[in-house]
Amino acid sequence: MSGRVADDKIGEVRDRTSLVEIVSRYTALKRTGRNHTGLCPFHSEKTPSFSVSEERGLFYCFGCQASGDVFKFVMLKENLTFPEALERLAGEVGVELPKRPADERREQGRERLLRVTAFAAKFFERSLWETAAGATAREYLVQRKIAEATARGFSLGYAPPDGLAHALEKAGAPLGDAEAIGLIGRSSRGGGWFDRFRHRLMFPITDLAGKVTAFGGRLLPPTEDQAKYLNSSDSPLFHKGRSVFGLAAARDAIHRRNRVVLVEGYIDVIALAQAGLGNVVAPLGTSLTADQVRLLKRFTDDFVVLFDADRAGLAAAARGFEVFATAGIFARAAFLPQGHDPDTFVHQAGLEALERLLERSSPLVDHYLRSLAAADAPLAERARGAQKVAELCARLDDPIFVGLLVRRAAEHLDLPEEQLKTRERTKRPPPDASTPAPHARAFSSHETLILELLLVRPELKHRLPDDAERLFASPEARALFERVRAADDSHPPSQLVGDLPREAAARVARAWLGEEEIYAAAEQTLDDCLARLAGRAREARLRALTREIRDAESRGDTAQLGTLLAEKQRLAASKPPTAEH
Ligand SMILES: [Zn+2]
Repeated sequence: MSGRVADDKIGEVRDRTSLVEIVSRYTALKRTGRNHTGLCPFHSEKTPSFSVSEERGLFYCFGCQASGDVFKFVMLKENLTFPEALERLAGEVGVELPKRPADERREQGRERLLRVTAFAAKFFERSLWETAAGATAREYLVQRKIAEATARGFSLGYAPPDGLAHALEKAGAPLGDAEAIGLIGRSSRGGGWFDRFRHRLMFPITDLAGKVTAFGGRLLPPTEDQAKYLNSSDSPLFHKGRSVFGLAAARDAIHRRNRVVLVEGYIDVIALAQAGLGNVVAPLGTSLTADQVRLLKRFTDDFVVLFDADRAGLAAAARGFEVFATAGIFARAAFLPQGHDPDTFVHQAGLEALERLLERSSPLVDHYLRSLAAADAPLAERARGAQKVAELCARLDDPIFVGLLVRRAAEHLDLPEEQLKTRERTKRPPPDASTPAPHARAFSSHETLILELLLVRPELKHRLPDDAERLFASPEARALFERVRAADDSHPPSQLVGDLPREAAARVARAWLGEEEIYAAAEQTLDDCLARLAGRAREARLRALTREIRDAESRGDTAQLGTLLAEKQRLAASKPPTAEH
């Protein structure tokens, strides 16, 4: 997992990081003895079952069994890969990581493209504020009541009828790069470069660090033959379905308020920010995607979507639920009075009215369920609704979310929960049949106990015979054993506890957290378990030999028969390795 970055660097980052401090960013922790406890940040609960041991660098949830070290926590919470989590934490604590050559190349490519977008953003800004051609766009901003300071804050610009391609060329910028990110194109005849964005008010789209990766452009004045909005095409810098507008500016406010408000348009985001509501973002031209929701989920679980109060708005709210459900989020819907956009509403009614409207938001799931069938609809209609819910559930990953949805749907449709659940099962195998990870049945009780003992008392590893792995019967148990045996400071065992059968993981976590001393006489227990496994392995081998000897006899394979008989004799003569204590 860590292979590419030197282990000492990983250790250094871990040592300098406070797990309690990191976890506290997501859930309130209370000190209890040597550990900290709080509500689990991975599943919803009312009484705390989440424990953190700063000493051990371990977190563990006795409810959902989420567990691991600080890297695992950041990976789970922020949807990051291990290298990304490492990089994030290293940045926070000031540990410099060596760069991998491939990274460096990719980064250089990205830097080069970002220089082109930054150049274009400046060019558009100058055209907006300093050229005669920008007058149309300036007037439009006045008409939408966007102040110059606000517009400058969002680095808005104007794409004139032409000039960017020329300016890029004059500045010696790589035109191929500008083409790759969709700023310019080459005309089929003659081969000259032309600007892709023309006559447009330009909204820079940034990454989380605030670097411009793409643009959205609104045609000014609108004409019949051209699209009102044009977005940069997907590029190495930008994926439309995975970015949202305004996030870099909104992220602090989202974090502070622990809520994100979703609106439809760029101008809505800007107008609400101007009015004092900073935690607002918009999807990019298309309807919201599950990837966009997952991106925002890094910052909050509280989503409110602003819809129009008309029929179309209600339908959109019902449809929107499925996207949020895919990302495991119960979003809420707030409805604007008819005829209003977010920006016209906040200009007319003020920020407080908007805040009240957001407070009155209602669960999206209710709109979704009502769209399937009214609560008092005939049974057949409600049953069809239940079928729809079951179909949706079959596509969802989060069992807790599914459980809550099923309960809510059963209530609304006035049908027994079982009816929805049964349907769900027929579509989708229960999780323990599809996940390859920890099955209790893949581990014998002695195997499990050995793994537990080695995790809780790693100093016992020296008692293991060199070829101990061959004592583990299933490949799963053997693989986990090898990882447990290899665990050390740079590959801490806290990563592995989640792979144990559930009860065993909880026992290990309790022992690590110092809550229970259940591994008394650990040395002897370990030896006994090893002896038991060895005995079993020996019996299994004897049984197999008997079979093989019979086969060799019937084949008349005397050479093979000799080898097998010798082995059987050796095995039978060897003292059965039962416990000696
Ligand atoms: Zn949990």
